[in-house]
Amino acid sequence: MAATVLDGTKIAAQIISELAGQVRALTDAGHRPGLAVILAGHNPASEVYVRNKVKACERLGIHSETITPPDSVTTAELLEIIERLNARNDIDGILVQLPLPAQVDSKKVLLAVSPEKDVDGFHPVNVGNLSTQRPGLVPCTPSGVIEILRRSHIPMEGRSAVVVGRSDIVGKPVAMLLLNHNATVTVCHSKTKNLAEVCRQGEILVAAIGRPGFVTKDFVRPGATVIDVGINRISDQKEFDKFFAGDAARKKSFVEKGSTLVGDVNPHVAEVAGAITPVPGGVGPLTIAMLMANTVKASKLRRGKN
Ligand code: NAP
Repeated sequence: MAATVLDGTKIAAQIISELAGQVRALTDAGHRPGLAVILAGHNPASEVYVRNKVKACERLGIHSETITPPDSVTTAELLEIIERLNARNDIDGILVQLPLPAQVDSKKVLLAVSPEKDVDGFHPVNVGNLSTQRPGLVPCTPSGVIEILRRSHIPMEGRSAVVVGRSDIVGKPVAMLLLNHNATVTVCHSKTKNLAEVCRQGEILVAAIGRPGFVTKDFVRPGATVIDVGINRISDQKEFDKFFAGDAARKKSFVEKGSTLVGDVNPHVAEVAGAITPVPGGVGPLTIAMLMANTVKASKLRRGKN
């Protein structure tokens, strides 16, 4: 039987509509949430991401502003911008769009964001809050993964969960969140031996690797829930056929655009999984929804309302 498709677009829309009321209430109380995005230099992909984040703020009534220093910006100049934003009472969230220009010390810049305004959840203080289960801001994509599971009524407690990928941005925080939800968690990476066999232990399998269609059917325990965090653009016809042969709708869009998106999970995994997130339309939409949720949460936490 084909897997249930976990519709991230629908779940993200639910979250956004729940947030709308909270934004209205905060605004009525004189505390309209505010997000500042720093977009340094010109990177077409980053520009699209930031545009989508700003649009989401506009839809919700969150104040947003984008600061666009040039490609030549220095670490010291970025630190100054962040210092000013840290001091402003009308800004609840500060997001530094990555990657920063090569000459910038990204770690130093991210560390300068006040932990209470760190809506990306990357600051070591928030990493510590997550691992010690204290209130704080949690990275957006990982919390989106948990929202998909929670809102799809997929139990985590007592279940075996395997996470492939150990990045600070996705793999590690997803693993920590699953652990905090009482799953028994295994984290895999490029040095893991017998990867397919380890993955097959997972009742929940999360793939955050960055390799198109890497997780194949032999990695998946029949009936498992598979969460595909990967976003990879493919434009090669042979690769397309490997993943999507027979998918007429996908073929039409591939021909029109010259490329399509595939996750880290081979789409044929849907033949053995119990439930699976699609790409696009799975984890992706949750990332922006959770950024909005974090901005509202930061606004409340800063005012002692959480
Ligand atoms: P990353 O920093 O490159 O980390 C990739 C992880 O995968 C590393 O831990 C690496 O292991 C592991 N890995 C690589 N090759 C492997 C292999 N052959 N076998 C086992 N493990 C392997 O990537 P990331 O930032 O976590 O992103 C992962 C994916 O998620 C990417 O496709 C990215 O585009 C996507 N993503 C999506 C969203 C979203 O909004 N949906 C947000 C962020 C990222 P080592 O640590 O040993 O090198």
